[in-house]
Amino acid sequence: MAKEDYYNLLGVSKSASAEEIKKAYRKMAVKYHPDKNPGDKSAEEKFKQVSEAYDVLRDDQKRAAYDRYGHDAFDSRANAGSGFARGGQTGGVNPFDIFREAFGGDGGIFGDLFGGGGSRNRSGQQDGADLRYDLEITLKEAFTGVEKTLKYNRHVTCKNCNGTGAERGSQAVSCPTCHGSGVLTMSQGFFSMRQTCPDCHGTGMKITHPCRVCEATGRVVESTKTKIKIAPGMGSGVKLRLPGFGEAGVRGGTNGDLFVVVYVKEDRQFDRDGDNLHCYLSIPFTLAALGGEVNIKTIDTEAILRIPPGTQPNAILRMRGYGMPDFRTGKRGDQMVHVAIEVPKKLTADQRTKLEAFALSFGEGEKSWFSKIRDSFK
Ligand SMILES: [Zn+2]
Ligand SMILES: [Zn+2]
Repeated sequence: MAKEDYYNLLGVSKSASAEEIKKAYRKMAVKYHPDKNPGDKSAEEKFKQVSEAYDVLRDDQKRAAYDRYGHDAFDSRANAGSGFARGGQTGGVNPFDIFREAFGGDGGIFGDLFGGGGSRNRSGQQDGADLRYDLEITLKEAFTGVEKTLKYNRHVTCKNCNGTGAERGSQAVSCPTCHGSGVLTMSQGFFSMRQTCPDCHGTGMKITHPCRVCEATGRVVESTKTKIKIAPGMGSGVKLRLPGFGEAGVRGGTNGDLFVVVYVKEDRQFDRDGDNLHCYLSIPFTLAALGGEVNIKTIDTEAILRIPPGTQPNAILRMRGYGMPDFRTGKRGDQMVHVAIEVPKKLTADQRTKLEAFALSFGEGEKSWFSKIRDSFK
């Protein structure tokens, strides 16, 4: 059987421009695509032929050779074992690859139906979104470190349809609106605009029998549990990433990540400032003046705090090494004790006498500090 002329096959003149050839090919390829003509051998053959013709005519060098020698230009090479124009028959050019290229990248489901290995369908593939989990822990947990179980809902791949969206036993077919390309190209004068096909949302596929479990989305919401370890010393705002624990990807897309944002609850006793812990202590004015020792709570135990004689109101006493651990080094910060001084509101007669004697002890001739203060208000 004599091979049909490539120009005739595509329905263009010998002087057709590259753009005209491309346009003509697209039209023919879509018309004869096997997916649009299931089981129609003659359409499939035609599809291969137009792809072969286009493969030659789109290439300036091949086209020139063809113009000069006709089919012989390529048949001789085919016989030599390196045929590049006998797509689909000699293992040379894959018509579906040509189809994909002509449509700007993606042949949609066509690649999977006919292409066999290698040409994985990436159409409609979408990576899953990242998720955020706000995890509240207590200051004590932040101090010791803690393992928490996170429970949350996320989209996972539908098991009923394996994420395809098509009910078991059925198959997605090429989207008739975009002919499986997932995009629509609209030409207006010199400009051509591409937009995602609104019917298949860019997947290039149309699902005739939607999966009843996921309603054709390919994903279902599932409650997920996972454990996470919080290292000792972590503070509010720390972001931990659990790769792959976000939303499942669509049609083979990668899973998103789960970001766990740590919040340390306010503690009744301690304010945290980096690795330092601040706390507040009221002591009697006598203790402040005389000095002494008190038992004081720390984040993990109790310790003895020495009050130096003459401690002033709002003094800050530092307890080295009683703070939070640095989550990298484990080195502990300090506990900072803010001192308030209590003055008794009532005195017994005996106490009063003694205090007056104490006041007088500051010496005759010298004004007591009571009167100094009184004078300052005059
Ligand atoms: Zn479409
Ligand atoms: Zn499903």
